[in-house]
Amino acid sequence: MARLEVKKNMKIGIMGGTFNPIHYGHLVTAEEALSQFKLDRVIFIPTGQPPHKTTGKLASPEDRYLMTVMATASNSHFFVSRIETARKGKSYTIDTVKELKFTYGESATFYFITGADAILEILTWKNPEEIITMCKFIAATRPGYNLSRIEELKKKLFGINANPQVTKDSIFIMEIPALAISSTDIRERIKTSRPIKYLLPESVCNYLLKNDLY
Ligand code: ATP
Ligand code: MG
Repeated sequence: MARLEVKKNMKIGIMGGTFNPIHYGHLVTAEEALSQFKLDRVIFIPTGQPPHKTTGKLASPEDRYLMTVMATASNSHFFVSRIETARKGKSYTIDTVKELKFTYGESATFYFITGADAILEILTWKNPEEIITMCKFIAATRPGYNLSRIEELKKKLFGINANPQVTKDSIFIMEIPALAISSTDIRERIKTSRPIKYLLPESVCNYLLKNDLY
């Protein structure tokens, strides 16, 4: 398919994150979602100014965008969007999903891909009951993860919203191989001169070291 072609009935994965920096945890999760849910593409969307505070040093939106481009360059189904880095002010998922809906049209189905822990925070996002009607969620988890908290979240979400569009199919659980990689740990490793090799793509590793990002 030609680059960024828009067709009817597309299945689009949205991988939102700070990507400070992007690592193999993100990439494996996106690839698994692409395959398990037969998505047409996954769009990585680095946040501009995250509404939730991050710990440690936050690289500039442009550097985080560029690292995400480098990390995804070899995958023909992965794309990176500037929607959030280009937007002034705080980044809210609801605004991003609305913008994507406008681009891809009403026939598109959106799957917001998150870690199982991140999805538990959805109630703290702006307009969660609206977001859940606009896209489905894929919560990535390790095999054997205790799912009771996600079941609780479903109850809460479906409790606050009598909207018939919201069904049990709004949140899917996806098992991925255990990956204890996190951006926080990578930043910590850089600060304390421990290895980061093999936790993230080599190009990203070279870029962040060359530019002294962390
Ligand atoms: P930080 O440690 O700075 O919070 P992070 O590694 O959690 O960074 P984010 O950019 O915050 O990365 O995460 C973006 C998305 O990717 C979130 O939905 C998060 O749950 C998910 N994610 C992060 N790391 C992993 C991992 N190792 N496996 C699966 N999903 C992950
Ligand atoms: Mg995180």
